[in-house]
Amino acid sequence: MIPVQLFEQFETLFATSPQGYSSAPGRVNLIGEFTDYNEGLVLPCALQFRTWVAYRLRDDNLIKAYSINYPDECEVIDLNEPVRHGLLHWGNYIRAIAYVYQKQGYQLGGLDILISSDVPQGAGLSSSAALEVSLGGALNQAFGLALSEQQIALLGQQAENEFMDCQCGIMDQLVSAKASQNQALMIDCQDLSIQHYPIPEDLALVVINSNFPRKLVESEYNLRRSDCMNAAAKMGVSSLREATMPLLETVRSKMTVNEFKRARHVITENARVVAAAKALLQDDLSRLSELMTASHTSLKQDFEVTVPATDGLVEICQQALGNRCATRMTGGGFGGAVICICHHEDVPKVIKAVSTQYCASFGLEETIYVAHAGDGLQTGVFEAAMAAHG
Ligand code: ADP
Ligand code: MG
Repeated sequence: MIPVQLFEQFETLFATSPQGYSSAPGRVNLIGEFTDYNEGLVLPCALQFRTWVAYRLRDDNLIKAYSINYPDECEVIDLNEPVRHGLLHWGNYIRAIAYVYQKQGYQLGGLDILISSDVPQGAGLSSSAALEVSLGGALNQAFGLALSEQQIALLGQQAENEFMDCQCGIMDQLVSAKASQNQALMIDCQDLSIQHYPIPEDLALVVINSNFPRKLVESEYNLRRSDCMNAAAKMGVSSLREATMPLLETVRSKMTVNEFKRARHVITENARVVAAAKALLQDDLSRLSELMTASHTSLKQDFEVTVPATDGLVEICQQALGNRCATRMTGGGFGGAVICICHHEDVPKVIKAVSTQYCASFGLEETIYVAHAGDGLQTGVFEAAMAAHG
């Protein structure tokens, strides 16, 4: 459904109607954490929360963008000049996209843009990837760039890596671009191939944001990354995807303790992704529960990216539902969110357990999203009926 509000707001702001739209979802990763930049496997799904972009071509070379989420601010980019960073943080994402598309030789032109989103920002649901993919879809359609969804995802990642200084992998943008309703996607980050796994209808996805203030995330993230690269180099493989536990054991004496532990997480996590996809296919929640618990333990002990608040949330869910829930931290770690997969009828129990225990133990207020797996990137033109609106 195209939000009527988006159409109306566009008319109010630009005194003309929008021509086309694009929308792309946020995501949650079910399992496969810190495997993407090691050319490994991940199993995310898109969410029902989406970022919409409405646009109209301009006859000059300016991109003029508003976001309903940042009222009264306007980002203006002059495409006749080299694209540099601006003053608005959110505006820099628009600049980042314009920068990489032009760098790759895609011909852009002036555009009026209005963004609107119900993807929670900074909650670990990747609102930034939703924005990059949605903007990419809009540019692709507006300027007839003939990009594939995979190319739109790669350009979004490049925008984060090269302009926003965030060395993320490809998972977030690829799932946002290529997801399908009610499906998890097993992405092989080595060749970007994707297999779809239906999420059983009786299962709910509960995402719980710890709201733990994330600090030093970038430097820790980079340290993990270099531990992984060093471990792979010492094993003589091009990435940890090529490594095995027996190989790791033979090289153990040449490694630092951290290199060994980071590699062990990635190797075992790749195997857990394959097993979890199979458990989803078999609608086997207790197997999924075992695998997600093992993933969390590995992220806590070997990759060392959990904090007491996210460990605590996992424990609260497990105490409430036992193996009737599959729970682990999800996303970049050092705080952020926990995913709890359980039967729909058990959702109130999770909410009750978390809301009575979490704040009392950690002094933080959680935010809970009851989610389901949504569709990937969609684009379209506003119908004549819509254009006649108002
Ligand atoms: P996450 O991707 O986990 O939600 P990030 O910090 O990577 O968190 O990205 C959030 C940033 O993306 C916001 O601070 C804002 O700059 C930008 N952003 C996301 N959604 C929107 C939106 N609807 N309108 C404008 N900017 C947005
Ligand atoms: Mg982000």
